[in-house]
Amino acid sequence: MRFASLGSGSEGNALVVEVGDTRILIDCGFRVRDTVARLLRLGVTPDSVSAILVTHEHADHIGGVAAFAARYRIPVWLTFGTLEMASERIGRLPHVFGFDSHDAFAVGMIEVRPFPVPHDAREPVQFVVGDGAHRLGVLTDIGGTTPHVEASLTGCDALVLECNHDLGMLEGSDYPWPLKQRIAGRFGHLHNEAAAALLGAIDTSRLQHLVAAHLSQQNNTPERARGALSKAMNCAPDWIGIADQHDGFAWRGL
Ligand SMILES: [Zn+2]
Ligand SMILES: [Zn+2]
Repeated sequence: MRFASLGSGSEGNALVVEVGDTRILIDCGFRVRDTVARLLRLGVTPDSVSAILVTHEHADHIGGVAAFAARYRIPVWLTFGTLEMASERIGRLPHVFGFDSHDAFAVGMIEVRPFPVPHDAREPVQFVVGDGAHRLGVLTDIGGTTPHVEASLTGCDALVLECNHDLGMLEGSDYPWPLKQRIAGRFGHLHNEAAAALLGAIDTSRLQHLVAAHLSQQNNTPERARGALSKAMNCAPDWIGIADQHDGFAWRGL
């Protein structure tokens, strides 16, 4: 099993996970041309993608899904709530599968376990995906953790974990007050210290990869995200990966 990022942040997100010849995208927030270019730099041809899983209806996650899925005839999986919000574009596709945010399913060789998250969307989820031996947990776009989120992510072999903002940088930024409230709120985004606290609440003993994701380009820096997570893990800062907006991150194997 291996995974890589096409890019991560408020301008677009997509993660590719591969087990055998099954290849899934989790979210696709990039235009078709960008998605293809970003896949090709990872050595993936677009028509080899088996399915796209969507976390929620925000444009940085779903914006590129309909066009890419239509162009390459790729099945799309999303919660019934997300489907309702995106039905105009996604509903027209020939292969759309709704799922319940608590029900596991499989795509080819990949086991998929969704779990609901507090975020300001209709029925947002994040995923733990695995090959039967190893599990990758993905968690972005979450206002704050819950016992169910922690139970879902405990014992994973790899984590892609939101470090959206540094609380002090957000407070000091020139963002309008309502936007600051939205980002820092219960249904907004996870800040560095909250991500670090989450690591303290789960079993990380199997963790081989930890990648900070969905970093704000205005209100965070890779150094601050690495600093918070490495302190929680008691590891060297450069062990923590960064999912960059433009470059994502290269393949990591389990
Ligand atoms: Zn997002
Ligand atoms: Zn979102």
